[in-house]
Amino acid sequence: MTMSLPMCAIDFTNDAMGPEEAAIADRIAELKQQMGEDLLILGHHYQRDQIVMHADLLGDSFLLSELAAKSNAKNIIFCGVHFMAESADILTSDDQNVILPNMRAGCSMADMAALNEVEIAWEEILERSGLSDPATASEGDSCLIPVTYMNSAAELKDFCGRHGGIVCTSSNAAGILQWAYDRAGPNGAVLFFPDQHLGRNTGISMGIDLEQMAVWTPGQENSLPDDVKIILWHGFCSVHKRFTVAQIESFRKENPDGLVVVHPECPMEVVQAADANGSTEFIRRYVAQQSPGTKIAVGTEINMVARLDATHDELDIQCLEPTVCPCSTMYMIHPAYLLDVLERLAEGEVPNQVIVEKSIQHGAKVALERMLSIKQ
Ligand code: SF4
Repeated sequence: MTMSLPMCAIDFTNDAMGPEEAAIADRIAELKQQMGEDLLILGHHYQRDQIVMHADLLGDSFLLSELAAKSNAKNIIFCGVHFMAESADILTSDDQNVILPNMRAGCSMADMAALNEVEIAWEEILERSGLSDPATASEGDSCLIPVTYMNSAAELKDFCGRHGGIVCTSSNAAGILQWAYDRAGPNGAVLFFPDQHLGRNTGISMGIDLEQMAVWTPGQENSLPDDVKIILWHGFCSVHKRFTVAQIESFRKENPDGLVVVHPECPMEVVQAADANGSTEFIRRYVAQQSPGTKIAVGTEINMVARLDATHDELDIQCLEPTVCPCSTMYMIHPAYLLDVLERLAEGEVPNQVIVEKSIQHGAKVALERMLSIKQ
């Protein structure tokens, strides 16, 4: 497989590690070399350095899903969280194995939207709004289009595929929402789940009025404006929810010429107070474009911020929230787990394989491929 590698520029050495960590790193490198092109290790930007140093490819969930779809490797080890490995399994062929080093590495935001809750909301919104399900609509009907963030279970992607909907990531959310509105008809709307903040921030960037947005919380009385354009599931990311406008004001007070860049999973007020916002890939590029000496506060997961700081000696980079913790589930991918799955692969076992049930593969693949086919 030939592709450009979006690896970070840190010179990883074993010098900073203790003897046990260094032995694990050496053995991982040895096994990787033995397996050659049969093995591909994908790493998300939020992984710790001791994992990233072994990744063949580093990226956000959009880039990694594209790279997984293009790969011919027999075994793909996904150093990220469960929904990412599911997407990789859907997009790769039946004879490729997608492996998650720790099966407990999930995502609290993805867990906030369950299929049965979404199905109940779907029926209620259709009935109250008079909109049509795209799967059964007649020509000229105004429709409700389901859009799920990549950070969701495969069965929700399948739901979107079966109901004329699509998947989005933080890299492409505006383009995907435009795709949805082009199909919804003039009075149509979007049901966006599970992250209310990404949905709201993207809607605002497209000029949608806050009055035309509604938040949907399962099990509660939910109001629905007559001219609703986007219904936002109540979910959120516990890491990005911690960033505040007060932190931005405090940074600006100390650094009047400094810049603030945040992820669109942050609340609306934070995104609006920042100088720029975008996906992890966007943040990486934004930081790299700044002049030497620039002070930058970054509102995203701490492992990525620390890596940006270590990569760019010429810049002064800090996390917007000095005490922010790593994403606890991304952090569950410890090098010892990576080594364990590699040892077992070397012995002929396929450990921790993430297999999406055939019954939901088709719809989920339709929704993912719709996303990948849209040029950003
Ligand atoms: S950073 Fe937030 S959205 Fe991403 S995996 Fe962690 S909890 Fe989920």
